Amino acid sequence: MTYPGGVTALAGVSLDIAAGELLAIVGPSGSGKSTLLHIMGTLDQPTAGSVHIGGHDTARLSDRRLSALRGRLLGFVFQHFHLTDGLTAAENVATGLLYAGVPRRHRRALATEALARVGLAHRVGHRPHELSGGERQRVAIARALVNRPALVLADEPTGALDTATGHAVLGLLHRLHEEGTTIALITHDRDIAASLPRRIEIRDGRLVSDSARARAAVSAR
Ligand code: ADP
Repeated sequence: MTYPGGVTALAGVSLDIAAGELLAIVGPSGSGKSTLLHIMGTLDQPTAGSVHIGGHDTARLSDRRLSALRGRLLGFVFQHFHLTDGLTAAENVATGLLYAGVPRRHRRALATEALARVGLAHRVGHRPHELSGGERQRVAIARALVNRPALVLADEPTGALDTATGHAVLGLLHRLHEEGTTIALITHDRDIAASLPRRIEIRDGRLVSDSARARAAVSAR
């Protein structure tokens, strides 16, 4: 991936994520993690190479079909939550269904159910400014999950939280993974990365290690 202006942020990276995985993408600041997440999330098109999601070659899709695929198959969680201030928790979560073709009458019930999954059944009517940081991130996670996506992409989801709250959010992601959600999580925190079943490490835009490949290599010996 080369940005206009000539910065090559990723090169030669090949990555397969299977259904049900929970993996950390780790690396120092500026190494290309966010670029990789944006490409995996079809928010950016790579200058070379391809991205396949759920059997679709994303480069072959029109913008309209690509945003439909994003709405149906992907969920996003950001460091700073990206919630809409004027909306309640349930309304924020329901925005995760806008591009998924879910009829309006079903959205509220699905949003409430997703909030219950993240332990916020008692906060459906609260607005973001009435919630703690950890609760805001749970709302954002519920929004990412509400459409049962094939893959949740989380960019430093604990980066804006204190340590204890960050651990609680990480515990939630572990539980969702145990329930079958596929999650790729960017972090520069080695302890967080070490707690996840698979770790890939990016440096200077290159994939320098993949614990899944290391395991495969060991078992092949
Ligand atoms: P990380 O998420 O690991 O901190 P990024 O993927 O954000 O790294 O950045 C990788 C490299 O690409 C950095 O050198 C950064 O300055 C550059 N970069 C990121 N986004 C852009 C952009 N939109 N335009 C130009 N260069 C960018």
